[in-house]
Amino acid sequence: MVLTYIETRDKRIKKSSLEALSEGGRTAAGLKTEAAAVLVGTGMEGLAAELASYGASKVYLLENASLDRYSTQDHAAVLAVLVKKLNPAAVFFSATAMGKDLAPRVAARLGVGLAADCTSVVQKDGQLEFTRPIFAGKALLSFRLMSSPQVVSLRPNVFPLASAAAAGETIRESVEIPAAPARAVVKEVLQESGGEIDVSEADIVISGGRGMKGPENFGLLREISALIPRSAVGASRSAVDSGWIGHQHQVGQTGKTISPNLYLAFGISGAIQHIAGMSSSKVIVAVNKDPDAPIFKVADFGVVGDLFQVIPPLKEELKKLRG
Ligand SMILES: Cc1cc2nc3c(=O)[nH]c(=O)nc-3n(C[C@H](O)[C@H](O)[C@H](O)COP(=O)(O)OP(=O)(O)OC[C@H]3O[C@@H](n4cnc5c(N)ncnc54)[C@H](O)[C@@H]3O)c2cc1C
Repeated sequence: MVLTYIETRDKRIKKSSLEALSEGGRTAAGLKTEAAAVLVGTGMEGLAAELASYGASKVYLLENASLDRYSTQDHAAVLAVLVKKLNPAAVFFSATAMGKDLAPRVAARLGVGLAADCTSVVQKDGQLEFTRPIFAGKALLSFRLMSSPQVVSLRPNVFPLASAAAAGETIRESVEIPAAPARAVVKEVLQESGGEIDVSEADIVISGGRGMKGPENFGLLREISALIPRSAVGASRSAVDSGWIGHQHQVGQTGKTISPNLYLAFGISGAIQHIAGMSSSKVIVAVNKDPDAPIFKVADFGVVGDLFQVIPPLKEELKKLRG
């Protein structure tokens, strides 16, 4: 079995988890075993059908109201118990903020290694071989894990979604939460107003850097985003550090790794730490007044010019397209 941990938000499955499950299914097929998924928290049984449509032949429910709010300690504990019981060949996570927190803890509880933030999983001589970018994406490392089960986290927006109908049998597992004193408790989850799509989930990302000159000009990018369905506004670290936009919008090595269908970069120079987070975008368009800006080395299309002259006609054309 290849078991995938499914991350949810407001009882909805995150796209990155569906990608991990899809890859779990492909890996399971290669290993001639089944793909399964695990959901943690109450009120999740309605999601089993969706997981089945991405290849989960079994969906395990770890139901307990005290698991509804994420806790590293409790989620890691109940997952480790399930993994020990099922003894899968591999356990997949998505390398989101939560997955990066949870996967190493589960691996540690199982006493096994972790293949973190992988961008490829292949089978060679009956063993899994993983690839992950290192040194901010300057080199790729291929490696194998010597321990079992193989605990793996997969970089979001890299692995394609599968459409592989499976049985999706729902199995409720009893859950016992260890009585150990909580080291950290999530008391409140604050949501940014406006219900914006997360940059890591958007099909199109419109990003701004220091060239935007100030927080008020990120309004221009939001206006463009409002005209494009399933788009989100991203930012360079300089823009975030200047307080022009929240950290959740940051793309890059210390921000989010994304690979949307289209990435628009306005006034972003293209530092290696920024490129590390967006170079796997399908199409990259850069607008920068400096013809030697490094962003043009990774861009598919570039406009050498002042972004404040490029944005207004772009907005007009988008309005026309939207009718
Ligand atoms: C450990 C570490 C981690 C980091 N992590 C990240 C990260 O996750 N993400 C990230 O983005 N950075 C990260 N950085 C910072 C990174 O090195 C750069 O400093 C940062 O990306 C630069 O942001 P920028 O491109 O917006 O600004 P700048 O480098 O200042 O570039 C601004 C660009 O705007 C252009 N411009 C100015 N005015 C206009 C105009 N009117 N029209 C068009 N173009 C214009 C300029 O020509 C310039 O190219 C990290 C750095 C370190 C050391």
